[in-house]
Order: sequence, then C-alpha cells, then structure tokens
Amino acid sequence: MLEWLPTVLKGIGDSKLAAILREQVSLLELQCDQAIGERDVLATKLAQAKAKIELLESDNAQLKAELDDSQRKADDDLVPFKGALWKRKPGGGYYDDVLCRECHQPMVSSHGVLSFVCVPCNVRVNFTGKQLAEVMRGLP
Ligand SMILES: [Zn+2]
Repeated sequence: MLEWLPTVLKGIGDSKLAAILREQVSLLELQCDQAIGERDVLATKLAQAKAKIELLESDNAQLKAELDDSQRKADDDLVPFKGALWKRKPGGGYYDDVLCRECHQPMVSSHGVLSFVCVPCNVRVNFTGKQLAEVMRGLP
C-alpha cells in the first residue's frame, strides 16, 4: 500500500538536492567570474609592469652609455705627469690640483713640505706643495 512512498520521498530528496546543487553551481559560477575578472586585472597590471621595466632598462642603458661617454671625456682631459694626473682647463693650461693616478681624486701635501699623497690609495709622488708651481711649469 505504501509502495509509492520511497519514490515520492526520493523525488522530494532529489528535488531538494537539485536545488542545493543549482545554488552551489551558481555560486561557483559567480566565484569563477570574479576569478576571471581578477585574473584579467592582474594580467593588465603585469603587462603595465613589464612595459615599465622595459622603459627603465632602456633608460638605464642610455644613462650608462652617457656616463661612459662622460667618463671617457673626463679621462681625456687628464694628463699624466710626474706620477700624478693633471686636469686641463678648457681655455688652456692646467688646474693646480694634483690628482691621484689610481683614483683621480686630489692628493694632499701636508703643510706644503711633505710629498703629495692620496690618503685613500696611499699613492705618493716625489714633489711637495712648495714645488708645485715649478713642477707645473714642466707640464706639456
Ligand atoms: Zn687615490
């Protein structure tokens, strides 16, 4: 007499299950759409970041080339003489800075009586501050 009950109960159960599954499917579809949207935003940001990196690398290469060029020009202005380097003045002649042949920084002659020395490199030349004017007269 109750032969139909399992079928009815099964039908009710299936329909509730189907409703739950439909709800879950639509929730998953919504999450999937959100994930796709986030992925697209991230892809755009990544493309922008890559473009910026390329631009910065290009700028960096250009600046390095300019620096090398500038360094080469600066080195061209330095003349080696008596164990030191001397910087040419644009109008001719030389600046009276005695430059270290290693690091190109100015050397010092303590009280003008000790030989010029580069303190960081410990490079020395065999003339003093008092002899500077005489040494410079020999510059080419
Ligand atoms: Zn030095």
